[in-house]
Amino acid sequence: MANDYITKKLQPFGSSIFAEMTKMANDNNAINLSQGFPDFDGPEFIKKAACEAIMAGHNQYANTFGVPALRAAISAKYKKFYGLDYNPETEISILAGATEAIFTTITSIINEGDEVILFEPYYDSYPVSVTMAGGVCRYITLEFPDFKIDFEKLQKTINAKTRMIVLNTPHNPTGKVFTSDELETLGKIAKKHDLIIMSDEVYEHITFDGTKHIPTATIEGLRDRTITISSTGKTFSMTGWKIGTVCAPAKISAAVRTGHQYVIFAVANAFQHAMVKGFEAPDSFYKELLDFYAKKRDFMAKTLTDCGFKIVMPKGSYFIMADFTNFGFDNDVEFCKYLTSEIKVAAIPPTSFYYNKKYGEKLVRFAFCKKEETLAMAAVRLSGLVKKPVSAGAAR
Ligand code: PMP
Ligand code: GLN
Repeated sequence: MANDYITKKLQPFGSSIFAEMTKMANDNNAINLSQGFPDFDGPEFIKKAACEAIMAGHNQYANTFGVPALRAAISAKYKKFYGLDYNPETEISILAGATEAIFTTITSIINEGDEVILFEPYYDSYPVSVTMAGGVCRYITLEFPDFKIDFEKLQKTINAKTRMIVLNTPHNPTGKVFTSDELETLGKIAKKHDLIIMSDEVYEHITFDGTKHIPTATIEGLRDRTITISSTGKTFSMTGWKIGTVCAPAKISAAVRTGHQYVIFAVANAFQHAMVKGFEAPDSFYKELLDFYAKKRDFMAKTLTDCGFKIVMPKGSYFIMADFTNFGFDNDVEFCKYLTSEIKVAAIPPTSFYYNKKYGEKLVRFAFCKKEETLAMAAVRLSGLVKKPVSAGAAR
């Protein structure tokens, strides 16, 4: 039913699937493998730094573009990890999580009627942000199980109104990490049509099997048309702190900064000071993060495969997409309701991430950014799923 209080443009969007599934998990006393937040705390040294920053008096409005020491730390990080030079004075901004970074970037840059290309499954805030900006979303499906870009379709979709392509690598929810070949082809297309790329790289430090995250801005000729978004929430397991980063050429950064000043103005001062410590972490921190998540990924992949799901092994992020056809449910929403209320494990029905729903309706997304014991308990519960008999109809 339409909600009279919501604007016409927001009518197509319901409440966030993450909030909805977490509530359903809590209401059903289910293990929450739906919303992607760690059920463990971030590093002690960063927490301690936050207490110190509060006691040191960093409690008034921060610099609107971000605490200078944090912007300097981020500039050093991009240089060290990727060889990218960003001027912290003009090209790096701190926003309230990647969510504000996405919203503010899109609403600051997209004009009424501009078209924005989204790859589906997409992170759910992209189409809402484009719509709020008065832009038009055009969708290209990454199909299970390869999630490859159909470049021919992409070329055909681009027209005179196209202004931006939104990319997410490593990709939520599929775990895909875009290869340099894919990024180069995409880059050629972006250059040919003079498009901006917004590259959401919040899972940049979570990749597996030796897969390297390739920032879009490192591809030849793309630095000056790419807006790179990241979030300390993922790297430092502090999703509640909402510290996001935007790196972009000065002209684009100036636009994003203008929007940001009137949406949030400034991000929590003390937490930004504390996060400087995060960026001082030694290289071993990143290696440990990889090993830590690789174990969880392997455990979850085995659990799901043993239960009868068809999975695609993620190369990055902390999510696994699985096909639940073997269990005989009509669609992902039905399946996730059953999973949460009967099996007592909550997961995300990914049709929320598709405009063309048919591509997601036999899939389910599990988050594995959870403690070992949480995943072990989930495995026990998931083993209670009953496979559909081959000849009969749905087994429920
Ligand atoms: N982009 C992607 C791909 C995400 O998965 C998320 C959620 N964690 C965000 C953006 C939002 O990040 P944040 O929590 O920093 O707002
Ligand atoms: N990014 C998280 C996920 O994909 C959720 C973020 C949120 O709840 N807004 O699960």
